[in-house]
This record gives sequence, structure tokens and C-alpha cells, in this order.
Amino acid sequence: MAKQKILIVEDERDLIEVLTYNLSKEGYEVISASDGKEGLQRAQLNQPDLIVLDLMLPIMDGLEVCRQIRSDSRTQNIRVLMLTARSEDVDEIVGFNMGADDYVTKPFKVKPLVHRIKALLRRGKDADSEHEIIAAHSVEVDRVNHVARCRDEELLLTPTEFRLLWTFVRQPGRPFSRHELMDTSRGEDANALERTIDVHIRALRQKLGNDSGLIETVRGIGYRFRPVSDAKANV
Ligand code: CA
Repeated sequence: MAKQKILIVEDERDLIEVLTYNLSKEGYEVISASDGKEGLQRAQLNQPDLIVLDLMLPIMDGLEVCRQIRSDSRTQNIRVLMLTARSEDVDEIVGFNMGADDYVTKPFKVKPLVHRIKALLRRGKDADSEHEIIAAHSVEVDRVNHVARCRDEELLLTPTEFRLLWTFVRQPGRPFSRHELMDTSRGEDANALERTIDVHIRALRQKLGNDSGLIETVRGIGYRFRPVSDAKANV
């Protein structure tokens, strides 16, 4: 099987070295770029499976790189893990149209970061093996064409929001814990993961507009898609 490819976009040389060493050891092919513009070019040219993208970069910052990656059909499905030194940027990073799939705040430990990278890549692989269109209530998700609609209006979702919606719509009524939704085991970074999933859910609900109530909070567990038998007036 071909090695999965990871692009590291980071202007701190030491960090590139540490990450390249550790990810190569895990069997990944690792390439790198040291500014935003070079990173974007490498993403388009080399088509990595995942990008570790620093937020603060010379020439073009990480948010702009991410936005351009998401708006280009050649790169829009590449998973993006953002590195940030400022936790207050998190909502912006994982929410709405910025489109990062996950984030890690600096300084970070290498082992949990590698774990998060593996989880993101695994989610992508599972996704490729399913081909069908599913629907519940006013929402329809087409896995093959990567299109989600609500009341026949196309939803502009990040890859993570798309996978979340797919997971929900596939099993309406089933409660999912945040850990299940992140497809990861309990670890030292559990709190950060839970916060990430809440941010994704908030963004997804916002995009569902008047139908935001379809994603229900299940107290003490996490979230679920409204059961199909539970007919509400506005659905
Ligand atoms: Ca930096």
C-alpha cells in the first residue's frame, strides 16, 4: 500500500524537524514548507492526505491557506490539522468556512499530536468505503458527490461537518458521545477534543438554519439527530 502523505507547513525549523522525524517513524511520507504560499503550492502539487498547518506563517497566514485549500477542488478534501499558539482563535479555526478539521494548541506534545493525525486519516479512509445517499427529515447527504442538502438547499460544510452530518443522518435517534464523534479513544487531550466537537456542532447547527434543532443535545452523553418517528411541526 502506498504511504500516506503528510505536508507540514511551519516556519519553525525545529518543529519541522521533530515532526518529520516522528511522522516518518510512523510510516508516513513527510514533506514540508516554511511559509503559507509555498505550503499552498505544495498542497496543490503534491496532493497530501493531510496537512499540519501552522496558523502564524510568513507571507500568507494559516487561515488564508486553509480557506484557499477549501475553495480549490484539487485540495478541498485534504484533512487539515491547525497548529495555534492562541486558544482564543479556536472558534474561528474550526468553525464556519475556515474549514480546519481539528486543531492543536502550542506548545504540544508530539505523541498526542501523532494520535490526532492518525485518527483524522482513519476517518477519511472509512468515509471512502461508503457509497450511498441517505436522508432523514429535511436533510439529505450524498457521500459520493460529497453534497449535503437541507430542504433542497445545498449546505456548504467543512469535511468534518460533512462527516458529522453523515454520522447523524445515518442513525437518527441514536445518541453519540463526543468521543465517538471524534473517533478517538480517551487520552490526555480529551478535554480539547470535547471542545472541538462542540465548536463543530455549533457551526453545523448554524448552517442548518431553521432546522438547527434536528441536532439535539443529549444531556450527559453528547448529541443525536432527531428520531424520524418524532414528527415536529416544522419538519
Ligand atoms: Ca509560526
